[in-house]
Amino acid sequence: MTLGNMLANGVRTLGVWCSGRGCGRHSVIDVERYADNVPVPWFGPRLRCESCGHLGADARPNWSEEAGTWGRIGYNSALPI
Ligand SMILES: [Zn+2]
Repeated sequence: MTLGNMLANGVRTLGVWCSGRGCGRHSVIDVERYADNVPVPWFGPRLRCESCGHLGADARPNWSEEAGTWGRIGYNSALPI
């Protein structure tokens, strides 16, 4: 699954779950500015949780976006911009 595949299905955000022990924070991140050929799993290890500071999250296409469910942007990218 790449961002291009995701966009083809009308989804522009990822649902992410912090993998920090005992945290479980869930958030939504906007990935529109990234290239179409970036694979979805590329993001997980590069996301830092705002809540517990853990580096690494479970990232999946935010399919529920189609139903109009929007979360907050709660993760800071650990990548240099
Ligand atoms: Zn966390």
